[in-house]
Amino acid sequence: MDTDGPRPIRLPLLGRNAAVERLVRERTWMLEQRVVELERERQDLGRILRGLSEGVVAVDRAGIVVHANPAAIGLLGLDGASCLGSHMFVAIPHPAACELIEDVMRGEGRVTRELVIERPEGDSVLVVAVRSLRKAGRDDGEAEGAIAVVRDVTELRRLERSRQDFFGNVSHELKTPVTAIRGSIETIIDDPEMLPEVRARFLDGARRHAVRLGSLVTDLISLARLEGDPGALQLAPVEVEGVTCEVFAEVAEDAARREVRLELEMRVDDGRELVVEADEEALRQALGNLVHNAIAHSDPGSRVLVELWRDGAFLLIAVTDEGTGIPAEALERVFERFYRVDAARSRARGGTGIGLSIVKHVAQAHGGSVTVASTPGAGSTFTLRLPGSAGVAGGNS
Ligand code: ADP
Repeated sequence: MDTDGPRPIRLPLLGRNAAVERLVRERTWMLEQRVVELERERQDLGRILRGLSEGVVAVDRAGIVVHANPAAIGLLGLDGASCLGSHMFVAIPHPAACELIEDVMRGEGRVTRELVIERPEGDSVLVVAVRSLRKAGRDDGEAEGAIAVVRDVTELRRLERSRQDFFGNVSHELKTPVTAIRGSIETIIDDPEMLPEVRARFLDGARRHAVRLGSLVTDLISLARLEGDPGALQLAPVEVEGVTCEVFAEVAEDAARREVRLELEMRVDDGRELVVEADEEALRQALGNLVHNAIAHSDPGSRVLVELWRDGAFLLIAVTDEGTGIPAEALERVFERFYRVDAARSRARGGTGIGLSIVKHVAQAHGGSVTVASTPGAGSTFTLRLPGSAGVAGGNS
């Protein structure tokens, strides 16, 4: 702004009217240009505010809402049509947010706080950063209004919690076998007179825990690989019958010991091979985990059946056992990391609690899915649905 006051205008004596007219025209043109510029700036600002994923709400010194961008309307649940011009305590349905704005206008220049908003679909966590607006250079004067910037951190907080849970679980799972191994070894060291058969029992226990520790570390590495970079999978056409036979060969000894029959059934009516576009090693691991679990939960004399068939562009692999089954309330949770229906039983047989989580990640990394159906006492069926290899398993439709 010009602070020196209006400058005197010197006009020539002759043609005085023409000169005034020219001057007025020039000033009018300059003013029009300024108005156009201001309008453009206003529109640019509006576009930026509309495009922000953060919510922005501005109130004047009386607490009247003078601006709310679409993100703020969504995050704070404002009524887009009526919030402008309303008092914030009427427009913003969260008194805690309004009290924060009031506090900031009264005192501190800026405050950031986390608010938990209850919603029918689940609580949301919002970070609200409020800053008062004061005249330039007048930090202590009365606030002209305030601006609140709102960010949704629900997903971030959920991930942080799940990371903490994961580390807590991993530490616990690793500690248990390490403590057991240490205990066995210390007992043997402390008792040089120990009977050979007792020592053998302690050593066998230590070996079993070491094997479980090894499986746990291997599973954790697989999980980290799948979660870290699913794109690192090396996709190529893989023939599923061959992979199933390899898995059967790997578990044959275990199945024979438990007297469980392994069967493979292929439902193909066009003679074509069943091929998926997959990372062969990852597929073998996923199918291996399902078959391994099926055997572990089977009774002697029962059978584990692997069925393969096409469904449109997908190939389905179902692993069915006639074993203990899974209670209805646990069905949704069995794919969670470290979830077990019977934790003690799982640990006793060397289970890591991560096997099905790996299966789920393998399925998802291939653009597929895994589901489970089960009847307690009668058995379970886990079904992997994977995209067929283009042009080979492209469907029988
Ligand atoms: P674990 O190492 O304990 O087998 P998983 O992630 O492979 O871990 O499986 C999670 C839990 O799901 C198991 O502890 C078990 O309670 C249940 N489960 C998995 N497969 C079966 C099955 N075929 N029959 C019954 N329960 C199963």
